[in-house]
Amino acid sequence: MEKRINTRVVKVDPENIDYNIIKKAAEIINRGGLVVFPTETVYGIGADALNDEAVDKIFKAKGRPQDNPLIVHIADFNQLYDLALEVPEKAELLAERFWPGPLTMILYKKEILSDKITAGLNTAAIRLPVNEIALALIKESNKPIAAPSANTSGRPSPTEASHVIEDLMGKVDMIIDGGSTYIGLESTVVDMTGSVPMILRPGGVTAEDIRSVLGECEYDPAIIKSDEAIIPKSPGQKYRHYSPKAKVILYKGKTEKIAGRINEDYDKYTSLGLKTGIMSTAQTEEFYEGKINICIGDRTKLLTISSNLFKGLREFDHMGVDVILAEAVDEKGLGKAIMNRLSKSAVETIEV
Ligand code: AMP
Ligand code: MG
Repeated sequence: MEKRINTRVVKVDPENIDYNIIKKAAEIINRGGLVVFPTETVYGIGADALNDEAVDKIFKAKGRPQDNPLIVHIADFNQLYDLALEVPEKAELLAERFWPGPLTMILYKKEILSDKITAGLNTAAIRLPVNEIALALIKESNKPIAAPSANTSGRPSPTEASHVIEDLMGKVDMIIDGGSTYIGLESTVVDMTGSVPMILRPGGVTAEDIRSVLGECEYDPAIIKSDEAIIPKSPGQKYRHYSPKAKVILYKGKTEKIAGRINEDYDKYTSLGLKTGIMSTAQTEEFYEGKINICIGDRTKLLTISSNLFKGLREFDHMGVDVILAEAVDEKGLGKAIMNRLSKSAVETIEV
């Protein structure tokens, strides 16, 4: 067992940042420690990206497979040129439009980034986040910061400090509590090393958004088809992910039909003695009266669903639910990212 360390949990108001705390956090980064901080996507577990020993601590704290590379976070666009071997014009255009923001670009890397962080690949994932606490920490430490989601590998990503405390207490030096994250899903990962940008993981910046700037954008076939034979280009996408303790079943189809089938299955699982929960939306909540359900948002405002999805999955765990019945959403815009996470967390998908 890893030795437990003393974890300091501190609150920072993103609107009125206490720079004394940021200074302390930056000192921890600079001496090779781990600091958890909020971003606009999910909470990240950060370490000095140029210090292999520190980066190794991230893998250990999360229990993350060594072949799953980390995203390097920067606070200034010009830092990109220190890390990337070449920055194609298309990447500059995307950065201009979407940075700071939930977009991670894959570019050929400079040698300064080690095999540890890129899992031996000759490319690196780089992002400039929008959260003021994250930016202040990166600037103050004067280092690029490696920061994957601050959860135990495989669990739903944390969107509040309490989720981080659940997973990482005693494994990191500091947790900065900056309130709830905004988008609630990890960044879009787009590979910029080919002639056409290719989305390896959908997120807050959509393919439509990228096309509006560059005219073209494709998806990695592995995230469109659920065919196990297609190997995803992003190593992280091959793992099962975002899993609560309960078994998640995902229902796809017309909303009213889904609700009917979920009601039937709820009764079936309950009669088998399994505590069952339904993840509903504002449009369907009324169909599940008297049943255990958490409404995670409004289908006409997908940001309400993305921001509450992982929190909902964790809440069902707190309730001791055995089975979660989850409704699919339309795979348009942010819906693509929501469905990517839901499909990965589900053990079974039922087409109604
Ligand atoms: P996380 O840090 O947990 O948000 O995950 C980062 C995601 O980016 C994972 O799916 C990684 O596999 C992916 N990623 C990081 N670096 C690369 C890279 N060089 N090429 C492809 N995918 C990458
Ligand atoms: Mg993650």
